[in-house]
Amino acid sequence: MYDVIIIGAGPAGASAALFTARAEKKTLVIDNGKSILKPAWVENHYGIIDGITGPELYELGKKQAIKAGAELINDSVLDVTSENDMYTVKTDHNDYQSKHIIFATGNSTELAEQVGLDVIPGTEPKIKSVIKVDHDGKTNKKGIYAVGTVAGLTVHTTVVAGHGVQVAVNLLSELKGSRYVDHDINK
Ligand SMILES: Cc1cc2nc3c(=O)[nH]c(=O)nc-3n(C[C@H](O)[C@H](O)[C@H](O)COP(=O)(O)OP(=O)(O)OC[C@H]3O[C@@H](n4cnc5c(N)ncnc54)[C@H](O)[C@@H]3O)c2cc1C
Repeated sequence: MYDVIIIGAGPAGASAALFTARAEKKTLVIDNGKSILKPAWVENHYGIIDGITGPELYELGKKQAIKAGAELINDSVLDVTSENDMYTVKTDHNDYQSKHIIFATGNSTELAEQVGLDVIPGTEPKIKSVIKVDHDGKTNKKGIYAVGTVAGLTVHTTVVAGHGVQVAVNLLSELKGSRYVDHDINK
């Protein structure tokens, strides 16, 4: 059983995983390699002065989450079912369980709709629909959150990565019972 399962390892999902893994929560990320970042050249990401290719940023994000302790599986999530407070995430090859699921599925709400999450029209260019979330990133189903593009954020890497962090911190704060912060000191 995992503390959190994140569906999607683009900037939003990988950033959420970085924070939940660093908080020593058992974190599983499942990604099927279809990030919209792949054809991009990114020159406006915070701190990246000379630009970076989309595929490079996508790989770096996954590597950073893994280094922090997250487990990454290359697979497609086909369904998410629930019994009491527990969710079972089903892929082609296996089933995984957690009480907390984060949808970070980019421009796809197909799985969200299948699972019964409330979906609303998107407002950003080329984003047809997004998962309805509240201020904390919570969906209409207890324990299921959504981050980044699929949660309606503006489709920029710094923004969706930041949203992944914000929602992960909200979840970690709930688990801790007080506001969580992840700061290091420059020694
Ligand atoms: C041509 C182009 C140029 C761009 N240029 C810039 C730029 O210069 N600057 C900028 O800030 N942004 C740019 N972007 C936008 C940037 O790519 C997005 O902001 C960012 O990728 C969104 O991140 P995300 O994590 O929300 O979604 P994604 O990066 O799309 O990640 C979603 C992930 O979820 C996975 N997934 C979905 N469903 C499932 C499932 N059922 N099972 C398993 N995995 C699943 C997908 O495989 C994917 O890897 C550009 C985009 C494009 C297309």
